[in-house]
Amino acid sequence: MDTTTCPECGAPAEVTDRFVLESTDGPIEHLRLQCAGPHWFLMSTESLDRHRTAAAPAPERHLIPARVRRPAAPPRS
Ligand SMILES: [Zn+2]
Repeated sequence: MDTTTCPECGAPAEVTDRFVLESTDGPIEHLRLQCAGPHWFLMSTESLDRHRTAAAPAPERHLIPARVRRPAAPPRS
């Protein structure tokens, strides 16, 4: 069984199909994969590799704005 990881959630995914599609740049190998979760993909092996490479480093976190310190509200009387 050919396995990889889901590009969406990182869960183990099974490559259920592999085939070559002709393109203007020549034949491109595609694969169909089904993850342990609800995802399935039909993509070129190249784009899967790209996705893996991109996913390898820790995902960039969205910058969380520093908590704005509010000036102490004047006591209400
Ligand atoms: Zn998944």
